[in-house]
Amino acid sequence: MPAAKKVSAEDVRAQEDRYESGVYSKRPLVITRGKGAYVWDIRNTRYIDCGASFGTCLVGHANAAVTQAIQEQAEKLVHVSNIVYNDVRASLMAKLVEVTPPQMTRVFLCNSGTEANEAAIKFARAATGKPGIVSAKGGFHGRTMGALSATPKEAYQAPFRPLVPGFTYVPYGDAKALAEAITPETAAVLLEPVQGEGGVRVPPTDYLVKVRKLCDQHDVLLILDEVQTGFGRTGKLFAFEHSGAVPDILTLAKGMGNGVPIGAVVTREEIPKKLAKAAHGTTFGGNPLACAAALATIDQVLERNLPQHAAELGAYFMERLRALQSPLVREVRGLGLMVGVELKAKAQRYLMALLERGVIAIPAGSTVLRFLPPLVLTKDDADFVVEQVAAVLGGETLEAAKQRGELVEVTEDA
Ligand code: PMP
Repeated sequence: MPAAKKVSAEDVRAQEDRYESGVYSKRPLVITRGKGAYVWDIRNTRYIDCGASFGTCLVGHANAAVTQAIQEQAEKLVHVSNIVYNDVRASLMAKLVEVTPPQMTRVFLCNSGTEANEAAIKFARAATGKPGIVSAKGGFHGRTMGALSATPKEAYQAPFRPLVPGFTYVPYGDAKALAEAITPETAAVLLEPVQGEGGVRVPPTDYLVKVRKLCDQHDVLLILDEVQTGFGRTGKLFAFEHSGAVPDILTLAKGMGNGVPIGAVVTREEIPKKLAKAAHGTTFGGNPLACAAALATIDQVLERNLPQHAAELGAYFMERLRALQSPLVREVRGLGLMVGVELKAKAQRYLMALLERGVIAIPAGSTVLRFLPPLVLTKDDADFVVEQVAAVLGGETLEAAKQRGELVEVTEDA
């Protein structure tokens, strides 16, 4: 066989730029492999992945158990639809019910976070016969029309109006405002237990319990979007466990398949019963290959007690970040290994500087450095990341940021 032509980073970038739709703003990095919390570029430079996979590779890149499960399943059956039964799909649904509270007994499988929320919104409308969905400012639920309608960010919504009617928005973390927004037409309240894209915002500790009470009082369903927080990210298997409040509908995706696309809706028994057969569905939902990956991922999360590791390492990581003496840091916040460093300046320059030092982090809003590492991150890795953050912020002053027009005087509104 002739030797394969070696492709350069420039070739790959030029090719992707030539054909890609252009909807993504990209970093000049060509990532070709990963292992654990690390990824490597085509030139073999190593990076700690605190965001390249958007928080999906919970149990680490190229995780041996997940890879084996995918390989074995690929040799048996990649896909079969929901008009027949499948052993791996059945096991995954049973597993999801097993790891969620006892009242959550029904599962709908899909392929992404936005699809999970889309299904949740449809289930809530069908179950209640009401149209209204209340979501929060700063929230992010996805890019398809229903989920987008629950995501009140002007830049995301404006080009695509008209949106789906029936959606209203309240300030996040404010139970009183929610009480005022609920009407007899409200089917559901849709919230993230910790807002991710909106800036890593952890609500007041009693918020979700108050929300739960309001929903019960007004006969409104509570949908919790754990697409980003689910499967151990925040230090519990699900972030709602920190609060004591249990949702009626739980949406999951991202880390569920350790990078293999899959999403899920887990609901109380009676909720999907109102839907007629074929009222909702998706070709690839419950795809056996994705289900095998998800089963192996969930087993790894549980067997290795990764939620506890995320809780402990996340607390340590935040403590070290809080100890940094930088006039640029407004606040360090988060839960488990979902961590945000809010700056008093635009974050972009510091994200690029981190990249040069081997750390891939992502923004949340324009001023927050967000860290969503695989849950297998070690203490040494966390120390390395803190040192790089210290280095990129070191010597930076508010005055310099001001001169560059990058100073952000007050916390950005959600
Ligand atoms: N909900 C939340 C909380 C998310 O963070 C995201 C993705 N950032 C989504 C929904 C949408 O997921 P996806 O990109 O898989 O559609």
